[in-house]
Amino acid sequence: MEKLYEGKAKVIYPGPEAGDDPLSGQSPSGPVHPRVVRVYFKDDATAFNGQKRAQIAGKGVVNNQVSAALFRYLEAHGIPTHFVRQLSEREMLVKQVQIVPLEVIVRNRTAGSFARRYGVEEGRVLPYPLVEFSLKNDALGDPLIYDDAVLALGLVNGSELARIKELALKVNALLKAYFAQRNLELVDFKLEFGRLLHSAAPADERGAIVLADEISPDTMRLWEMGTGEKMDKDRFRRDLGGVEEAYQEVLRRVQAEPSA
Ligand code: UDP
Repeated sequence: MEKLYEGKAKVIYPGPEAGDDPLSGQSPSGPVHPRVVRVYFKDDATAFNGQKRAQIAGKGVVNNQVSAALFRYLEAHGIPTHFVRQLSEREMLVKQVQIVPLEVIVRNRTAGSFARRYGVEEGRVLPYPLVEFSLKNDALGDPLIYDDAVLALGLVNGSELARIKELALKVNALLKAYFAQRNLELVDFKLEFGRLLHSAAPADERGAIVLADEISPDTMRLWEMGTGEKMDKDRFRRDLGGVEEAYQEVLRRVQAEPSA
């Protein structure tokens, strides 16, 4: 099957034909041609801008199912996302979007590049959640970018920027509560947003900003409450061992009934 795009962790394939799809239908102005694509989650893992590479057995299955569960939960709580439905263990159907070339990072505690950049210890609780942007550009190493540069480069307009920040903070509040019920602390995470293309929605909703990409142990830091044990991709980045087990445990907790 022809690929539309292949990234480090996922492959995008064309979606089902219009007519086979739950989003298809008629609008008053004529037939709607919704664009949906299939996302396939691989086991390939990379870190340090692609310098470290390996396979994590079962990672694609975990990331697909964790992402699907989180997109469903966020949608149910008012966050617009690209998610349509899960297709198989490793695949989901999503609405096609034009990805905004920003990595939107939200931080609740100091960790990773933030701790390195400012020379502070990992794990300090921040007084309020921080929203940070990086330019999505592997050749440049995804450099940090500030609001004025985002706007001056025309990556988004002012209202899109405000919407992205608003959604990122809402997602943080929702996911913090979700993982706390599963005895995991959400330390930080990365989101990507897109503009909805060819949606079945009214014309004034086309181009709307929606949450896209994935939300998984590859893109979040999750620490066991109480012990601080790392349950995310840092086990791979830092050679801590038990990588597969940590991913499986996150999926198990996502699938379990919340404890509180
Ligand atoms: N992150 C990501 N993709 C990236 C960079 C970061 O998913 O290209 C996630 C990362 O897993 C962590 C959060 O964003 O949960 C913050 O990462 P940080 O900036 O601290 O960078 P890192 O320590 O990964 O270099």
